[in-house]
Amino acid sequence: MKFLEFAETCRKIEEISSRLAMTDLLADVFVKIPDEELSVFVRFARGKLFPDWSSEKLGFGPSLLYEALAYVIGKKKDFVISAINSAGDIGKVVEELLQKREQTMFFSEELELADVYNRFILMAKTSGRKSQQERVRSAQYLLSNATPLEGRYLARLMLEEMRIGVGEGVVKDAVSKAFAIPSEIVEHAHQALNDLGEVALLAKTEPNNLAKVTITTFRPVKMMLAQQGSITNMVETHGFVAAENKYDGSRFQFHKKGDRCAIYSRRLEEMTNSLPDVVDKLSKAVTRDVIIDGEVIAILNGKPMPFQTVLRRIRRKHDVESAVEEIEMMPRVFDILVCDGETVIDLPFTERRKLLESSLTDFVAPQIVSDNPEEIEAYYHKALDDGNEGIMLKVMNAPYIPGNRGKLWIKIKPEVDTIDLAVTGAEWGEGKRAKMFGSFLLACQDENGDLLEISRVATGIDDAMLSNLYDIFKDKIISEHGKTVSFEPDVIFEVGYAELQKSTNYEAGFALRFPRFVRLRDDKDVSEIETVESLIRRYSMQNKEE
Ligand code: AMP
Repeated sequence: MKFLEFAETCRKIEEISSRLAMTDLLADVFVKIPDEELSVFVRFARGKLFPDWSSEKLGFGPSLLYEALAYVIGKKKDFVISAINSAGDIGKVVEELLQKREQTMFFSEELELADVYNRFILMAKTSGRKSQQERVRSAQYLLSNATPLEGRYLARLMLEEMRIGVGEGVVKDAVSKAFAIPSEIVEHAHQALNDLGEVALLAKTEPNNLAKVTITTFRPVKMMLAQQGSITNMVETHGFVAAENKYDGSRFQFHKKGDRCAIYSRRLEEMTNSLPDVVDKLSKAVTRDVIIDGEVIAILNGKPMPFQTVLRRIRRKHDVESAVEEIEMMPRVFDILVCDGETVIDLPFTERRKLLESSLTDFVAPQIVSDNPEEIEAYYHKALDDGNEGIMLKVMNAPYIPGNRGKLWIKIKPEVDTIDLAVTGAEWGEGKRAKMFGSFLLACQDENGDLLEISRVATGIDDAMLSNLYDIFKDKIISEHGKTVSFEPDVIFEVGYAELQKSTNYEAGFALRFPRFVRLRDDKDVSEIETVESLIRRYSMQNKEE
């Protein structure tokens, strides 16, 4: 296919607003285009240069593009920049500028779709000191052989911003339509291959094999994701569910085949070089050829650190070795996609879990299986106390669906929304915490400034904070009845919660669901705590959102 034909097709697509018409047009192209160009066409139409599983990057930003264009039209870079600033759309500016040049030029070569793709590969593979200049030279080559219309789409491709409205869904529909393949098969093949170009090609050349495609090691697939939900709802719908800690780290996908190992991020970028310690741990613990899914957390003095710590480590390009020593990176593995080279995503979670446990000697994330909301709630509080973000609830017979954010995985975590409340009392703790306060009674205020109790909080307070709180409150005890003490109310807690509920148990008329200590607000005065009026507002906002 000539690149000009590709550009003309893009222009046609850009003018179409009906999804059906776009599907028809694409399906028509898919049937007619030579096989060897189909994958590239599919990717390009979506503004993708390489398969979604590929870490390949063009390494080319707007600034280099302006430089290349300025050279081609014989103007200064500033001229291009001011044209872009006034027009906005880079594609159109390139088209117009090439149009002005066209009158004085003859084209030396007609671009083929394959030429453009090969140039992009060359640009992506260029490395070393002069790589930027070489990339600019490739862009100059392409732009100087481009007609104005080709220039428009070349520029957009180089910046990976096609903006012609071709999304994943339309391409899948078009593949289905062009080759008469049920949409579930196209969908499933896409999940496993993570490249619509290859899906389209297989649909055309080996339609009978499309249903049998498997996941390939070192081609990462999208990660399965979760929705917000509630424990009771999950248990009511599914009975027994699996509950795991929701680790506050960074998602990874680890691939191993023979001696080769690689680790990928949630965005499917390869992180093997920035996480050598994690790769090392996993490669020693994994006993089979696998693709496994997990979260890496940072541990300092035995406690999980916030996920920013993990991110900082991953972003770190230099001094990886000294970073390795400072903080320990710990993998927690919770799923398996490929086992002994075989794709296992369609097996129920319970089966995958067995395979997972038999494929690793360590690092498998613990889980409980329960149909008892109270047991799960206790697990949730323990998870928070241990420094996790919350818990994940997983449907036991569910497959692993790459890229899916459905109701098969539910995340339970406290709202980021917090409120400030006065501490009016506490109960003495139990066991090793008997000489400390275990749970704290919280109050908001009414319009007269009178305190009204609203909840208790015990979660989210680590041992160091508990002893700190004991020191603060021991001199504020007003009265004591059995295990209960009342305090002079001049300490404020900032408290997170999952939901505000109407309640007759507390004077405020409301209770907090899953209250969690966030921090001491020693900068605040009791007159500044949450008012009943504001709680009423929060309550109605919350129910409106539902
Ligand atoms: P969110 O990012 O809030 O949508 O929550 C989903 C994320 O939780 C996943 O992408 C993982 O990075 C993370 N996560 C932590 N622990 C688990 C777990 N046990 N199972 C699945 N995902 C987990």
